[in-house]
Amino acid sequence: MPTVAIVGRPNVGKSALFNRLAGRKIAIVHDQPGVTRDRISAPCKATTTACTIIDTGGIGASLDDGFADQVAIEADIAMQTADLILFIVDAHEGLTPIDQALAQKLRKAKPPVRLVLNKVDHEKHENVFADFARLGLGAGIHVSAEHGRNVGALVDVIEEVIAPLVAETEAEAEVAEAVGIKLAIVGKPNAGKSSLINAILKDERTIVSEIAGTTRDAVDLPYQFAGENFTLIDTAGLRPRGKRDSSVEVFSAMRTEKAIRRSDLCVLVIDLAAGISAMDRKIAQLIMEEKKPCLIVLNKFDLYHPDAPRGARLEEATEHVRRELFFLAYAPFVATSAKKGQAVDHVLKEALKIRDKAQNLPGTGVLNRILHQAFEMNPPGSDRKSGKRLKLYYATTALNEKYSVIPVPTLVLFVNDKKLMATSYEQYLTNRYREKHPAPGIPVVFSVRSRD
Ligand code: GDP
Repeated sequence: MPTVAIVGRPNVGKSALFNRLAGRKIAIVHDQPGVTRDRISAPCKATTTACTIIDTGGIGASLDDGFADQVAIEADIAMQTADLILFIVDAHEGLTPIDQALAQKLRKAKPPVRLVLNKVDHEKHENVFADFARLGLGAGIHVSAEHGRNVGALVDVIEEVIAPLVAETEAEAEVAEAVGIKLAIVGKPNAGKSSLINAILKDERTIVSEIAGTTRDAVDLPYQFAGENFTLIDTAGLRPRGKRDSSVEVFSAMRTEKAIRRSDLCVLVIDLAAGISAMDRKIAQLIMEEKKPCLIVLNKFDLYHPDAPRGARLEEATEHVRRELFFLAYAPFVATSAKKGQAVDHVLKEALKIRDKAQNLPGTGVLNRILHQAFEMNPPGSDRKSGKRLKLYYATTALNEKYSVIPVPTLVLFVNDKKLMATSYEQYLTNRYREKHPAPGIPVVFSVRSRD
């Protein structure tokens, strides 16, 4: 959903405009510096096209730096997260140095910026406009957020920018839906990838052989299950390093990498009879590095301690693989016997579960609450050299791709200095976030940004 950010120095009427666009009945205006607002983002009710509106003035509340600094950080956040920036100035008061500094920043913004002259309550105020044209952001739209004057014209301007964005995303979504969930079936040779695909497709399309590395081509196989479209990406196995003797193997390794990259979800097939090897780790690492959703198939479960009770076997297998592939902690497990066609449907069912949960992205409010609580519960230590402490201003989510069937959100953290973020602290935040907003199969990706 597109995001529209309202930016401007304190007291220009950001809250009033936010409330107008959010369709709030009671216009609580507390545009005083330091006043904490309960919500900084809301669905925009005024536009026909659905979008989210954020008031960056709410972000500044957590800052104790100077005024201009605060406004600059807010502009930074808007520039990196919004699809459209509304730059609000107070027409009544006229141009101020902070407006000018802000305008200088915003002229370099990637998203489009629209200048909004607020507090134009009467036509007679309109003669001050010439002054603001000097900001280099166009003549501006004159409104009175307080009295609702000309807000309709502003809504039209917003619509003009965001409607095409939504249309584009919808067109992409339609194409993606026809292809369905792209599953890359990856794993070392002999793990049972071909058997799994055959069992899913229920035919003998691929020749399953005892000799490692017989299936070489990556092929896209369309398939329907439970009324949903899937594309199975069949890959050739990676051969163990020592035996990699021809360019064919290098080529097949590349295929696996490519398949991982263009998939929505990686299905990592493990041979439980053989245990975890270096190649499993290598493929798992590729999946992690590509930040791909993943599920792990514990295959040849029939050969894994066949005489022990099922529950105990499953627990042990899970523990073993989890320990060996600890960096794929986000991936859930499915135990199968591909050769016997046992539990192969579970792979597709789990894929659907992962997709459905992934659609439920945290709202900005929820995300900020989770992370701020985590900071309060266990504050970061101060840096040994500088004595400085990591401070979180604001967090938001960005998607790795504009449209993906299984979206992976990047948690964008705006902090005072990103060098103060320790790996262990990031891990702690990951765990807290996962606890509060579970999404099995989906990696948690952080992007930590300091203000420039
Ligand atoms: P790929 O190289 O990963 O495609 O592996 P294949 O599907 O060719 O399987 C390799 C060998 O393992 C074949 O002999 C299969 O019959 C056997 N196999 C695959 N899955 C299972 C399973 O779940 N249980 C048992 N017992 N054997 C399996």
